[in-house]
Amino acid sequence: LTLLGLESSCDDTAAAVVRHCGDGPAEVLSSVIFGQAELHSAYGGVVPEIAARAHAEKLDHCVRDALTAAGLHLRDMDAIAVTAGPGLIGGVISGVMCAKGLAAATGLPLIGVNHLAGHALTPRLTDAVPYPYLMLLVSGGHCQYLIVRGPEDFTRLGGTIDDAPGEAFDKTARLLGLPQPGGPSVQDDAENGDPQRFRFPRPLLDRPDCNLSFSGLKTALMRMRDQVMAEKGGLTRQDRADLCAGFQAAIADVLAEKTRRAIRIYLEENPGTPTVAVAGGVAANTAIRAALETVCSETGTAFTAPPLALCTDNAAMIAYAGLERFRIGGRDDMTLSARPRWPLDQSSPAMLGSGK
Ligand code: ATP
Ligand code: FE
Repeated sequence: LTLLGLESSCDDTAAAVVRHCGDGPAEVLSSVIFGQAELHSAYGGVVPEIAARAHAEKLDHCVRDALTAAGLHLRDMDAIAVTAGPGLIGGVISGVMCAKGLAAATGLPLIGVNHLAGHALTPRLTDAVPYPYLMLLVSGGHCQYLIVRGPEDFTRLGGTIDDAPGEAFDKTARLLGLPQPGGPSVQDDAENGDPQRFRFPRPLLDRPDCNLSFSGLKTALMRMRDQVMAEKGGLTRQDRADLCAGFQAAIADVLAEKTRRAIRIYLEENPGTPTVAVAGGVAANTAIRAALETVCSETGTAFTAPPLALCTDNAAMIAYAGLERFRIGGRDDMTLSARPRWPLDQSSPAMLGSGK
């Protein structure tokens, strides 16, 4: 099977062609991404209206470039997959309209994909991880532990009760005057910092479940920053690096400890050797990957993390999740709608369309 995938739920316009034959990992024949960072940089965050317009302008080019890079034509595709939510609604609508147009023009089947399912199935795209597995999905807007049993079968074990870690990284960067997206800038600065100098809290570790909280870290960071500024009249490069290192270490510690608990909860219902997989933009963080790897080796759990380029938003994951849905008979039609919210434990667009 060969699918074209479209992604436009946040600030990346993307198209990709993915092929999967039988067992084993899939093949990413092309993956094109137009980032919008410079369009939003003056505003300190993604402006939904600007994003929607840029997606509408760029999608056609992305599709053309993805097909050219794969050396294929639309007629070589078996179906067209598109992110139908959750995300910034204007962008999602742009993607869904474009996919509907392509499907109508070619007669190809249309598959609506949950963006989070795209992230959550990425370990199968790259490493052919068998079902079931334990997924830590950590991204710009989400943080949750999921048991993944099938392309539309997710059970949520726990997750953040407030901010997502990606959001926390982005806010931290903003508070320290570092460029967006915050994750990579904070990680870069943290490399030269001392994680011990500032004592960040480790929220919710006193609770046995795998729920998390990150909003307190941002407040703590603001307090520490203001204290240093009051004492010295400003922040040195070293102060900034130490704040980044302390903040990143707190997130890595909390994710590692909560992953240990999620493994325990997972094992109660799924005996055997589990695989822990991580995905989403924050999974690109090397300190967090290392912390999770340590927990997994200590608990005798296999660990897998997709390559960095497939952790952050891309259309290859959408094409692949669409391919899995397509394979089990998932189809949408011209009534497919864009959804700003779409929790993973109720997966198919049709089910939601019926008002459940
Ligand atoms: P969602 O998938 O929840 O809808 P999103 O699509 O905006 O949100 P992703 O593209 O999956 O999120 O991830 C983007 C987030 O990942 C941003 O918040 C960014 O700061 C963060 N991020 C990217 N690289 C790193 C890194 N190296 N360390 C930490 N965070 C990172
Ligand atoms: Fe995402």
